[in-house]
Amino acid sequence: KKPPSRKGSMADVPQDLLSQIERLEELFVVPTEKLKEITDHFAKELTKGLTVEGGTIPMNPTWCMGFPDGNETGTFLALDMGGTNLRVCEVTLTEEKGEFDIIQSKYKMPEELKTGTADELWNYVADCLEQFVEYHHENEKLDQLPLGFTFSYPATQDYIDHGVLQRWTKGFDIDGVEGKDVVPPFEAALAARGLPIKLTALVNDTTGTLIASAYTDTAMKVGCIFGTGCNAAYMENCGSIPKLAHMNLDPNLPMAINCEYGAFDNEHVVLPRTPFDIIIDKESPRPGQQAFEKMIAGLYLGEIFRLVLLDLHTQTECTIFVDQDVSKLKKAYSLDAGFLAAIEEDPFENLSETEDLFKNTLGILAKKPELELIRRLAELIGTRAARLSACGVAAIAKKKGWEEFHVGADGSVFNKYPHFKLRGAQALKEILDWPESKGKGKNDPIEILPAEDGSGVGAALIAALTLKRVQDGNV
Ligand code: BGC
Ligand code: MG
Repeated sequence: KKPPSRKGSMADVPQDLLSQIERLEELFVVPTEKLKEITDHFAKELTKGLTVEGGTIPMNPTWCMGFPDGNETGTFLALDMGGTNLRVCEVTLTEEKGEFDIIQSKYKMPEELKTGTADELWNYVADCLEQFVEYHHENEKLDQLPLGFTFSYPATQDYIDHGVLQRWTKGFDIDGVEGKDVVPPFEAALAARGLPIKLTALVNDTTGTLIASAYTDTAMKVGCIFGTGCNAAYMENCGSIPKLAHMNLDPNLPMAINCEYGAFDNEHVVLPRTPFDIIIDKESPRPGQQAFEKMIAGLYLGEIFRLVLLDLHTQTECTIFVDQDVSKLKKAYSLDAGFLAAIEEDPFENLSETEDLFKNTLGILAKKPELELIRRLAELIGTRAARLSACGVAAIAKKKGWEEFHVGADGSVFNKYPHFKLRGAQALKEILDWPESKGKGKNDPIEILPAEDGSGVGAALIAALTLKRVQDGNV
């Protein structure tokens, strides 16, 4: 479905608003040439991240060393500590090739936890695991269950069952965790509850996504998350990872790399940042970090939108919401990506749904021309996110010289944000110069497809692959 154009509806928009819209278009539209420039620089930065000197993109080796072949078996726990939910799964990889059974429970991740203490975090996580085990295995005598823990933050790993948190992302700000191995305090919280669980693999969500998707599709080469945060993982050969040379690994061994490319362009050389992106960064708990992510990920889309509207209202020549009470609009992070998505999805010619949304959520009575500006702004922010997102995928393709492959994608923005997939496919086409007929998503040389469950099945598979490697006496 093509994103609708509202060109005709602009007829009634007065000149001052029209010129504001034009100014916003200049700020937020990213033309093809710019996308190409970004991608070229991005590909170089990916390579740099693998060197001993390193670069801005962490390019973390994950010690997930190979794809599943579909014959993995066993029962595993999987824990996903996401931004909004905490999910516990029990995954049984069955004898039938590529098949599995899964049971799961979801727990809310309380907002206070994200800025609380490390003890509170690990105790809460362990409590959820305890509840899960009690509920699903009441009065059973359990052997140790191997656990794949999806920890979706940048971590330095010397081996797969450890990980030193490089820094919090996605608005998390818990003291005393950065720079330390997260596994010992986590295991201590499990031990304190006498839980029969052994952490086998600490997994990034992108690596889980890659492995889960490759379980059923051998064309899968990249796992991506377009959600609260953004990132990708792909398989490298150890021989192409100079920073691991000192370990004398077999150069042909595969090694999944968690790019952590949300950090792309932290040094601000190529991304077209607007004054609003600069404010977002300044006001965030980690200024200077995750420059790319802050322009495209779900956590920030609503906030960018809010900052623009507030700016239009408070400018000396205030152009919108004149005489309206904007106190609700003044609250940071009060609008999420779902709010933007709802505006882009408003099917009515008169934008009556958007009108209601503003009235009910913000207490603002938006006039017809203002509604047109609101809709256009949502489109601009959503389109920029999708187009810049495509640069990360294209950069991996360029770096590896891969021309045809599948990308497994997950995350709230990919799954729920209107037109995100099509806009991304269109941008890939422009960057990679595919012929006119391509760029529709389906049957493109590079297809971005909905992933299999990465933090459930993917984490379990990685735990299974790890146990197998240990059994076989390999690294
Ligand atoms: C984190 C990554 C994660 C991504 C998607 C980023 O903020 O640093 O580890 O893969 O979000 O969840
Ligand atoms: Mg997640």
